[in-house]
Amino acid sequence: MQSSIVRGAVWLGIYLFFVLGPLLAMLLGDLPRPRDFWIELSAALGYAGLALMGLQFGLTARFRFVTAPWGEDVIYHFHRNISLVALALVIAHPVMIFAVQPDRLALLNFFDAPPAARWAALSTYSLIALVVMSLWRLKFRLSYEWWHGTHILLAVLAVAAGVVHMVLWGFYLSDPVKRAMWIGLALFWTALFVYVRVFRPLFVHRRPYRVTEVRRERGKSWTLVFKPEGHEGMHFRPGQFAWLSLWGGAFKLTQHPFSFSGSALAPGGQVEITIRELGDHTSRIGTVAVGSRMYMDGPYGAFTSGCPSDMHVLIAGGVGITPMMSMIRTLADAGDKRPVVLLYGSRDWESITFREEIEAIAPRLNLKVVHVLEKPDAGWQGEKGYIDADVFRRCVPPPYAEHEYFICGPDVMMDAVEKALAELGVPMARYHSERYNFV
Ligand SMILES: Cc1cc2nc3c(=O)[nH]c(=O)nc-3n(C[C@H](O)[C@H](O)[C@H](O)COP(=O)(O)OP(=O)(O)OC[C@H]3O[C@@H](n4cnc5c(N)ncnc54)[C@H](O)[C@@H]3O)c2cc1C
Repeated sequence: MQSSIVRGAVWLGIYLFFVLGPLLAMLLGDLPRPRDFWIELSAALGYAGLALMGLQFGLTARFRFVTAPWGEDVIYHFHRNISLVALALVIAHPVMIFAVQPDRLALLNFFDAPPAARWAALSTYSLIALVVMSLWRLKFRLSYEWWHGTHILLAVLAVAAGVVHMVLWGFYLSDPVKRAMWIGLALFWTALFVYVRVFRPLFVHRRPYRVTEVRRERGKSWTLVFKPEGHEGMHFRPGQFAWLSLWGGAFKLTQHPFSFSGSALAPGGQVEITIRELGDHTSRIGTVAVGSRMYMDGPYGAFTSGCPSDMHVLIAGGVGITPMMSMIRTLADAGDKRPVVLLYGSRDWESITFREEIEAIAPRLNLKVVHVLEKPDAGWQGEKGYIDADVFRRCVPPPYAEHEYFICGPDVMMDAVEKALAELGVPMARYHSERYNFV
């Protein structure tokens, strides 16, 4: 825990260095003639906005050593919010100039404006389109794949056009050292992009997996069992996930994240993933043929045990059971008899994914299973409705602050459970959440 905080602080420092360093470096050496304060401030905002935009390629590059202290969902959340900050800075840059020098509004005339201003407009419009499409993707009914492809294109356009604008405008960059520094920075962003789109997929491509079994599960779900082909497989911790290229090679633009559902101690590098039929890709999952070759990039995620505790409390809703199943299977394989409580919310008795398997594995563990059914049959004697603080009080023994909690399921359930834990006085460091809709 301590080392993870230190690593987090170091990466934050490196991030700030790459955002503010190039800006502060502009103030070193020979300075161009001084200008109005607001013009100088607007230039600083523009540079900072561009640096933030370029670094987005690093945030989404899936560097495990960077994301480990926080987890992928937190990094994506940051990526999303910091792009709003970048947009605000990039828009403030021209707005401030227009406010103090209204004659510059003529630069908005795309056809008569000098090339440097045209590139600035292209960069700003691309960024606005990118942010608008990301914020309202579901409202605009954009398919995930279409949105993702456009997102990448607009991001490259926004950053590349921003760099060209800066070099052409050249007020601060007339100094060759500063110009070289910013061009070097732009090459660094390009290298990040090339790493993500070429080198990482190449690495994944060289480590294929073969589907050895396709199993139907309750709750409109399917388990795919994979064996590594020509390599030893990956070493994951229960609760982690991988990006899977469904139908298509490792270079496919869009991959899908899925938690491991099998034991981390399975022999021969075997990996299991359980997928619920949901949208255009996952609804075809049952048609995957045994023997197909697939590509998997992982393991990722920080949804794993992180602190010493007297008991694990696993709280799952629907397909959020998959990482819990991996934890349960791994504990069973390790002969670990620590007390575990599984609070498992499902729609009804028939749709409980892994129902029989959980019953079968329970005697190998110190496991208490509590099913909470949303629409139970008339004779159901167990918990009904949703998992809330009352279910905790009835089913989980105190002291609540001493247990370690894992929560995965629909957003409404996760929000309610996090609220319930706060009510019970559980410190945030004691619970881990994995949200399946982080993008
Ligand atoms: C860390 C993590 C672990 C997950 N583990 C599982 C699991 O074990 N089993 C399971 O069934 N589901 C899991 N999911 C959810 C799963 O990734 C999505 O349900 C699936 O990608 C939907 O694809 P689709 O094209 O069929 O659905 P669509 O209808 O296209 O998408 C439905 C929603 O899923 C999300 N989504 C779609 N495609 C992607 C993508 N390529 N990358 C990221 N998000 C996407 C979007 O929020 C989208 O709105 C997990 C998600 C995350 C983030």
